[in-house]
Amino acid sequence: MRNESRRRRKRQFEDDEIITLENVVKAYSAGAPALDGVDLKIKRGEFVFIVGDSGSGKSTLIRLLLRELVATSGYINVIGYDLGRIKHRKIPKFRRNIGIVFQDFRLLKELTVYDNVAFAQRVIQVSGKEIRRNVPSILATVGLAGKYKAKPRQLSGGEQQRVALARALVNRPTILLADEPTGNLDPKNSWEIMKLMEQINENGTTVIVVTHNREIVNAMQKRVVTMKRGIIVSDEERGMYLDED
Ligand code: ADP
Ligand code: MG
Repeated sequence: MRNESRRRRKRQFEDDEIITLENVVKAYSAGAPALDGVDLKIKRGEFVFIVGDSGSGKSTLIRLLLRELVATSGYINVIGYDLGRIKHRKIPKFRRNIGIVFQDFRLLKELTVYDNVAFAQRVIQVSGKEIRRNVPSILATVGLAGKYKAKPRQLSGGEQQRVALARALVNRPTILLADEPTGNLDPKNSWEIMKLMEQINENGTTVIVVTHNREIVNAMQKRVVTMKRGIIVSDEERGMYLDED
């Protein structure tokens, strides 16, 4: 205990640090942990790619940042919340700061495009008046202004991912997390979704994108964190997608 409190007192944050992981281990069961001692700092406003083989721990990292999972050991702080100590009743408020997009879109099939996005605002009790202002605005940003009334099954994959992106962004999150957002998209739609995320980042949102898309990573010249078997094996500003061996 004494060691622990001394360590906490000594911890120094840089002013604009928004995500901090220190020696994070996540073990689902006996055997090799999914994350095996991860240190990572991300600053407000960064755009970061996370790459690595399947099974290297990328999704586990994302789920820890959302506090969907709790670390086995180590320290995680996101936007000032110590995720090892956060009270259960504070988790919803914490999550409002984070937008999330997945490979498989996860839209509500029976709801229209408009209502899929509005739903995210209704659950946090935004007023009807604000919803009627915010939803059209974000749908225009992602290029879906003419599709309010469509249901997900009437849309292409690229359009469905734009709806998911609009839903993730409508509450103006501080951080956008995307776990293989282009995994089900063709190259053209993949580029369009990545360019939208870059634009969102340029407007101030911190963006973290897990991807296998080598061509896009190499073209975009962003920070690239490479994972392998639960550890970070490289972390480069303006990095490249490393060859898997
Ligand atoms: P990635 O997203 O890089 O493919 P994951 O984080 O999904 O990797 O998985 C990392 C490791 O943890 C893998 O060995 C995977 O089998 C294991 N794992 C992931 N989720 C679970 C789970 N819910 N229960 C048990 N093991 C899991
Ligand atoms: Mg994954």
